[in-house]
Amino acid sequence: AVRKFAKEIDRREIKLEGLIGEGEFAKVHKGMLCRPNEPPVPVALKVLKPGSTAKNREDFLTEAAVMGQFKDLNIVALEGVVTISHPVMIITEFMHNGALSDYLVQNKNRFSEIELLVMARGIASGMKYLAKMRFVHRDLAARNVLVNENLVCKVADFGLTRELEESCQGEYVTQGGKIPIRWTAPEAYKHRRFTTASDVWSFGIVLWEIMTYADRPYGDWDNYMVMDQVTANYRLFAPTNCPKIVHQLMMECWKADRSQRPSFSDIVEMLERWIRNPYLLKDY
Ligand code: ATP
Repeated sequence: AVRKFAKEIDRREIKLEGLIGEGEFAKVHKGMLCRPNEPPVPVALKVLKPGSTAKNREDFLTEAAVMGQFKDLNIVALEGVVTISHPVMIITEFMHNGALSDYLVQNKNRFSEIELLVMARGIASGMKYLAKMRFVHRDLAARNVLVNENLVCKVADFGLTRELEESCQGEYVTQGGKIPIRWTAPEAYKHRRFTTASDVWSFGIVLWEIMTYADRPYGDWDNYMVMDQVTANYRLFAPTNCPKIVHQLMMECWKADRSQRPSFSDIVEMLERWIRNPYLLKDY
């Protein structure tokens, strides 16, 4: 599958620069991709750590194969992979400002309402594309959105992303595995039913993260408390200075009945309207 969706890149065309991040199974470096007769392009190089198992390697490359099927302004683009020599690498476009969660913390209270909503629109637009491609992300959170030098936000981290099968009516039922509770819809952590509508729930949490400059959803509650309270219909409060209609949109994304939640098209349309007519936001 990797061969089909990801281009093999010649290791000699890659210049490795500094370390920029580290996950459980991979290190992320900045680098330059220097193809013959083309200007060099800055890239991020995700390098599988030594000592990884065959299963780690397979999951790592599956993520690249998923990414390789997407082509959208608001989805982090895959340049290619190195698989025929060691270590195995995934090469993606370089996102100068890193993870959205870190970026918001580092720039607390520096953005206008409109700038924040433009970030949200980008993410919603990337998710609209993902939904159209019939994939569910399952791990949408500000930490998994990357920001480029022009403040364009792009969805990344497709480790949990799954394609929806025709026969399963838009639902992906997991066998198990870790679930990011605070970002996940109740039907997904209770019955493992992941859909585009559960991604919409997560988008609501991301919108809340944006408006709070990446506060932790539900603060210091533990995961059991979060699940109990959300099941009892508790919802995150409106962040300070958050326009009422923006919190209303979050609340729509957090409807207990998933069929009542807006679609990503609806969300993009709403955000567009508010960005074009900022007076609509002046209600608090
Ligand atoms: P995890 O174990 O949490 O899933 P991971 O191995 O998937 O981590 P990432 O979260 O993809 O690693 O990347 C770790 C960090 O590296 C990110 O938080 C971000 O700061 C940086 N990073 C990743 N991809 C890029 C990119 N394309 N451009 C710039 N920085 C990036």
